[in-house]
Amino acid sequence: MDKKAMREEAERLMREAMATRNVTVKQGDTVINTTCGKCGAPNKVKAPKGVSRVAYVCKECGAKQETL
Ligand SMILES: [Zn+2]
Repeated sequence: MDKKAMREEAERLMREAMATRNVTVKQGDTVINTTCGKCGAPNKVKAPKGVSRVAYVCKECGAKQETL
C-alpha cells in the first residue's frame, strides 16, 4: 500500500466513524411532560425534535397512548 492509498483509507475510516456517531448521538431530542389519560400519572416521554405526538406507555398503569 502506498502513502496515497493509506491516506485515503484513513480518511474513509474517519468519515465512516463520523457518520456512525451522527446516527448514534441523537441531538435535539426533547422530553415531553405529559399526563396519563387513564391514571393521571405524570410521564416524561422522549421525542425527536419537532415531533409533538409520540406513542408511549404509562410508567404507572401501562396504558398505551399518545402525547397530545
Ligand atoms: Zn397511567
